[in-house]
Amino acid sequence: MDLVEIWRNVLGEMQVSVTRANFVTWFKNTFIYDYKKGIFTIGVPSFFYEDRLKKHYLKDIQTALSHQTTEPITLIKFKVATPQPDQVITFDKSNVIHRPVDKSSAKKESITVQSLPQNSSLNSYYKFSNFVVGPSNQLAYAAADAVSKKPGQVYNPLFIYGESGLGKTHLMQAIGNAILEESNAKILYVTTEDFLNDFINAVESGSGKAKDFKKRYRDVDVLLIDDVQFLSGKEGTQDEFFHTFNHLHQKNKQVVLTADRFPKAIRGLEKRLQTRFEGGMVADIGEPDYETRSAILRQRAKREGKEVPDEVIDYLAENIKSSIRELEGAFTKVLATAEITKQDLSLQLAADVLGNIISEMRQTITPDLIIRETCRYFRVSREDLLGPKRTKEIVYPRQITMFIIRSETNISFPIIGREMGGKDHTTTMHGCKKIAKEINSNPQLKEDISSIKERIRQTN
Ligand code: ADP
Ligand code: MG
Repeated sequence: MDLVEIWRNVLGEMQVSVTRANFVTWFKNTFIYDYKKGIFTIGVPSFFYEDRLKKHYLKDIQTALSHQTTEPITLIKFKVATPQPDQVITFDKSNVIHRPVDKSSAKKESITVQSLPQNSSLNSYYKFSNFVVGPSNQLAYAAADAVSKKPGQVYNPLFIYGESGLGKTHLMQAIGNAILEESNAKILYVTTEDFLNDFINAVESGSGKAKDFKKRYRDVDVLLIDDVQFLSGKEGTQDEFFHTFNHLHQKNKQVVLTADRFPKAIRGLEKRLQTRFEGGMVADIGEPDYETRSAILRQRAKREGKEVPDEVIDYLAENIKSSIRELEGAFTKVLATAEITKQDLSLQLAADVLGNIISEMRQTITPDLIIRETCRYFRVSREDLLGPKRTKEIVYPRQITMFIIRSETNISFPIIGREMGGKDHTTTMHGCKKIAKEINSNPQLKEDISSIKERIRQTN
């Protein structure tokens, strides 16, 4: 099989369906790195390209590939690599080639297209080998590693929880990728949102679709479901999920779940599901310590092939603590700024970039936003939250609101009182103190606060 020729033709097809600017940006210097047992590995210039191609062009690449080869395509992977001189494909319009698709290959396409979404839902970047292990995630890492070596046999289900941006999806997908390296297991990774949508579609479109749905979720060896806190309050879907879960569990198929909090803390989750979720291994991921944060940045710099001064890495690792996603985001922004403005990577540059990010965050978080999100989270009305009621159901969210306003905006107690419907400053001070005192000994409280903060950040 001539991989260069195939890729040239694939690019020819892509060129027709993608705008010129996007084509040049995203497909330049791509090539087929390898084809083995149904797996096409596409070489890309950097991780950034992988991300982009995967998000926006995977389906098109897959379709074009299936036109250009009769070999089976079970998975399309990406790898950061530089093409050999003979693998570089230069392009002008005259290169566009359409190989006529004969009937037999068209038939093949429908088969491969069907089987592809199963495993290609995994992002091949998420591996154990590039997951930095530290005290905050070593338990979750060890459990995930064990599961990947003996799926269905050690911890089933494995439930990983932790706040947003700390590596849950990374670990979960690393399990899938590791299993795939050793076997042909059928692995399905979906977000809970996908599951909900699929389920709703299936219900709305009648029995044929319902069958497809069952087959999609039950006919797998490993089911990875991300962010199950979004099952909260969705009774019909929880029922279906319960049966899917039982079906797989009985057949010793591995189930891995993640959420932003532990099972008991997911409000509106049926007891029977909560019990199932706790029935295997529950492992949390906490905030990474300084060493882990800087190790992650160093690894990232290495992957991008960038020399980054220690002081820049130290500075970012010291200042961004609560989310690896944000840490990486800031790092990328620093690298990009240096490149665009043609400056050296320096502490000053990092401080400028970070200063902007921090002030952007501060500007948009207002008491009003915090009040709104807290009301939504606890499902209480604004009138009640800001009014005089003193029942427990209201006082608890109210004090949490005050506490979050104080910690996120640094507004003074009297002003918080005013924002909270005209409360006395001693009331707001008391409320904030009470929460601050309890937060470390009460996991439920801690979960509630971090979930609300997370929502606030997301709506920003
Ligand atoms: P979550 O699912 O918990 O919100 P992700 O798994 O999406 O978080 O992680 C956010 C980003 O941080 C990803 O780019 C991921 O690769 C990276 N990341 C998280 N934890 C680690 C780690 N321990 N080592 C390396 N990268 C990590
Ligand atoms: Mg995630």
